[in-house]
Amino acid sequence: MSSNKKYQSSGAYQNLYEESIRNPKGFWARQAELIDWHKPFDKVLDDSRPPFAAWYVGGETNLCYNAVDRHLAERADQAALIYVSTEVDQERTYTFRELHREVQIAAAMLQKLGVKKGDRVLIYMPMIPQAAFAMLACARIGAIHSVVFGGFASHSLASRIDDAKPTVIVSADAGSRAGKVVAYKPLLDEAIERASHKPAKVLMVNRGLSAFQSVAGRDEDYASLHVQLKDAQVPVTWLKSTDISYILYTSGTTGKPKGVQRDVGGYAVALAASMKHVFLGEAGKNFFATSDIGWVVGHSYIVYGPLMAGMGTVFYEGVPIRPDAGIWWKIVQDHQVSVMFSAPTAVRVLKKQDQSLLRKYNLSSLKALFLAGEPLDETTAQWISDALQKPIIDNYWQTETGWPILCVQRGIEDMDPKFGSPGVPVFGFNVNVLDETTAQPCKVNEKGVVAIEGPLPPGCMQTVWGDDERFVKTYWSSFKPRQVYSTFDWGIRDEDGYFFILGRTDDVINVAGHRLGTREIEESISSHPAVAEVAVVGVADQLKGQVAMAFAILKTSDVMESPEKAKALEADIMKVVDSQLGAVARPARVHFVNVLPKTRSGKLLRRSIQAICEGRDPGDMTTIEDPAALEQIKSAVVH
Ligand code: ATP
Ligand code: MG
Repeated sequence: MSSNKKYQSSGAYQNLYEESIRNPKGFWARQAELIDWHKPFDKVLDDSRPPFAAWYVGGETNLCYNAVDRHLAERADQAALIYVSTEVDQERTYTFRELHREVQIAAAMLQKLGVKKGDRVLIYMPMIPQAAFAMLACARIGAIHSVVFGGFASHSLASRIDDAKPTVIVSADAGSRAGKVVAYKPLLDEAIERASHKPAKVLMVNRGLSAFQSVAGRDEDYASLHVQLKDAQVPVTWLKSTDISYILYTSGTTGKPKGVQRDVGGYAVALAASMKHVFLGEAGKNFFATSDIGWVVGHSYIVYGPLMAGMGTVFYEGVPIRPDAGIWWKIVQDHQVSVMFSAPTAVRVLKKQDQSLLRKYNLSSLKALFLAGEPLDETTAQWISDALQKPIIDNYWQTETGWPILCVQRGIEDMDPKFGSPGVPVFGFNVNVLDETTAQPCKVNEKGVVAIEGPLPPGCMQTVWGDDERFVKTYWSSFKPRQVYSTFDWGIRDEDGYFFILGRTDDVINVAGHRLGTREIEESISSHPAVAEVAVVGVADQLKGQVAMAFAILKTSDVMESPEKAKALEADIMKVVDSQLGAVARPARVHFVNVLPKTRSGKLLRRSIQAICEGRDPGDMTTIEDPAALEQIKSAVVH
């Protein structure tokens, strides 16, 4: 695959895309045929109250029915959920028939504990099958799930309990990460203690990893109820297309997480359409997304999307490099995975390992590796492409949208990706690069804000849970009076129509009047052979307004032991930036660190790095992976 091939269209993509923008109602009526409806809709779209959009009004359907029940006729004995844990050394495959049984049992448990349609169920679970059963069980009976990443600190969990006000919480004794047991129950108990809202019941899966105290009258045991309800029949509750399926909080990279609320019918259609046209889904084959159910990728492409497409989904509990960096590729080989989905952050972890570990396995079943979640720099894309010899397909989206905004859509046409770019607009998304002040479309290669003309296509957020005003104010007020949704990402569109994401709008650096995306500088520094990973932030400077400051992780740490060598490497890196972007982009300093502060979903917390550099409080840290990373930044800045 050539990295910078100009895209030559046969016209198939262009035609489909243009139709989706010109005639959204016709386009989406056709896509709606990809799912099963209990009652057909009367109206494809009601956008009489912008920016709110109601899709498939009058229609009735169910996510669980589409993910599970509808496959029973044709593929009851096919793999549906393939649980692989390198943490507890277990593997278990559930067929669609078995999944159907498990989901009904879980649904019966929730009903027994008092859960009714519209009630919230908070799921605070490790990557074990019962987590998927619980999600699908909620969908089956019309309960609204709110999955909170397992192992989140108790104060993060408490704030989500107070926001979602769940009737029941489903949890487990513990998770395990890189072989270390993380006890969840004490975190959960403390969170419930802190929260003002109290759930009526807590349903506990006991994995036998960490002994815990049960609260009498509140805590119930999953295994005991499972025995009691093993033959339970729980029919599907048909839901309005516009009913709420779930609430999910954004990653919290830029501040307080927002509770994204999703519908039923629009989401089902969007996922089905994306599985077909974007993710090369094929019924009967297996899909492997390495994310976690705590994130949007886990909702859309571990649980609902692949199952709806009649695919087996690999449900992986573990890290990418244990027992070694070959583990994911072994899974691809052993389970004949046809499509894989991961994140650049994981590939950067692999990059520090030996490429041969990736090459050891037979990957002939694999069609492509999709990557999303943060910028995929060209060097990293090239590295993984060389290692796997498979198409590497970047895609760009947000928790808010639920499915990709930008991606080459090989299900429609065999387009080549360009490394460094997450591709072209996905059907349904009227994406533009707009000038921040004039709200006019930018010219080719001119920087602006990536924005989507309303109404948003099916599958996107309906509102912020419980706060319509916040939804309107946060996302729709940047380009008033026009109904335009801001992604808060900064980007350009090139002469071939490919987009490039240059960083978050609040990450833009203004050096002596030049506006630079942090991403551009990071991309340049990443191209230095010694660098494994880097974060660049803008720091207030009396003279220049702002200067760029870089924090880099090196592939090998020996340089860091000698101050002279470190100094020389720093100068060398600056030279690379000078030659690629010009001296104006040169960072004031390149600090070397062992770890960078990230959210649990693997995104760089640039705002906290910036705050530390400017001597401010790092702000909302509820979703940080490793607080010790901030200490490294602090001491680097002092020295
Ligand atoms: P919060 O909104 O709470 O600050 P967040 O934006 O990190 O958190 P997510 O919805 O998980 O929460 O992430 C979406 C963001 O991730 C995008 O707006 C973009 O900044 C970044 N992103 C996702 N995919 C890509 C990609 N392929 N290339 C570049 N950036 C990406
Ligand atoms: Mg965001």
